[in-house]
Amino acid sequence: MVVHDTFQRSLRNLRISVTDRCNLRCAYCMPEEDYVWLPREQILHFEEVSALADIFMDLGVDKIRLTGGEPLLRRDLGALIRLLAAKPRLRDLAITTNGVLLAEQAGSLKEAGLGRVTVSLDTLRPDRFTALTRRANHAQVLEGIAAVHAAGFARTKLDTVVMRGVNDDELTDLLEYGQGVPAEIRFIEYMDVGGATRWSMDKVVSRAEMLEVLGRRYGRIEPVVEESTAPADRYALPDGTVFGIISSTTEPFCASCDRSRLTADGMWYLCLYAQRGIDLRGPLRQGASRDELKALIVDAWKRRADRGAEQRLRLRDRTPLVQIGRLREDPHLEMHTRGG
Ligand code: SAM
Ligand code: SF4
Ligand code: SF4
Repeated sequence: MVVHDTFQRSLRNLRISVTDRCNLRCAYCMPEEDYVWLPREQILHFEEVSALADIFMDLGVDKIRLTGGEPLLRRDLGALIRLLAAKPRLRDLAITTNGVLLAEQAGSLKEAGLGRVTVSLDTLRPDRFTALTRRANHAQVLEGIAAVHAAGFARTKLDTVVMRGVNDDELTDLLEYGQGVPAEIRFIEYMDVGGATRWSMDKVVSRAEMLEVLGRRYGRIEPVVEESTAPADRYALPDGTVFGIISSTTEPFCASCDRSRLTADGMWYLCLYAQRGIDLRGPLRQGASRDELKALIVDAWKRRADRGAEQRLRLRDRTPLVQIGRLREDPHLEMHTRGG
C-alpha cells in the first residue's frame, strides 16, 4: 500500500531517533548549557520500534535511518539493527552518527546487518572541533571514520554543516579528506531548526557560494543528473569526484520530501519544522491493534501539507525557529530529539 500526502508525496523514508542524549554539544544543535531530557520510561523498547517499523513498511516505507541524539549511546543498538535488518521489505538501513564511539562499534554494527554509515564531520582541525562541539573527541571521530571502511561498509558519507567564520575555509580540505577515506562528502547549509538558538542568516553559507568557492579551486563543476528524493543535490568535479550539497535553507526541497521522523519516545513528526507530532507510543502501549495504528498513520499522512523550509524561506526577518523557553517546555522541538 502506498499513501500520498496533499502534495502527492509518498511515505518512504523514516528516520528513527533511538535516544535524545548526546556526547557532543555542537554549536548549531545543542549550544545551551543544560537540556530537558525525555523521561526514560517513555523511551520505546526495541520491540516497540520494530512493531512500528513493520506498520510503516506496510505503508510503503523501505528506507530507515537510525539517528538521535547520538545513536551509538543507545545500549545494545546492535539488537535493534538485527531486528530491522531481518525485515525483507527494508531496502536501506543506515545510521547517522557523530563518530565518537564508532571505532569500538563499527564491526559489530556491520555484523548486526547495518547497511550504511553517515558520519558528521565539520572540521579536520582538533582545536576547532573542541570549540565547535565543546568536547575534545576529534581523534576518536577520525578513528571511527577509518573503522567504518575497515569494517567493510561501502557508500559511506560524511556530513558537514558549513558555518560562516567557523569552518567555511575547509571545504576543499574536507572534500580531499573524503576522497581518501573513501566517503562522499555532503555540505549542509546551516538550518534554523529548533535547537539552533544561535542561528542567524549571516552565518549561512549558501549552496551558490559553496559551488563558487569549489569551482574556483577545481574548475568546472557538473551537476549529477539523477532521479532521487534524497535531500542532497550531487555534483562532480572534473576528476570525477562526487560530492553533495544539502541546501535546506536557501533552496529547500520540500516538494519531493518523503521523510518523516519518529522520536525515541514514539512521537511521529511529518516535518523537521512541525510544531506538533502524532503520539504513536500512547496507542501502542494501550494495546491498539496494527490496523488501528495503521489507520492513524494513514490519516495523518493523507492530510500532510508541511513544507516547513519553504515557509521559512518566505519570511523577511528570519530569527531562530523556537525560543529557548519553549524548547525547555517541549524538548520534542529540538533537532537532537527529532533526529535531524
Ligand atoms: N548525533 C548524530 C550526528 O551528529 O551525526 C545524529 C543526530 S544529528 C541531530 C543529525 C544531523 O543533523 C547531523 O549531521 C547534524 O550535523 C545535523 N544538524 C544538527 N543541527 C543542524 C543545523 N542547525 N543545521 C544543519 N544541520 C544540522
Ligand atoms: Fe552534534 Fe549530533 Fe549531538 Fe546534535 S545530536 S549535538 S549534531 S552530535
Ligand atoms: Fe521535508 Fe519539512 Fe524538510 Fe521540507 S522542511 S524537506 S517538508 S522535512
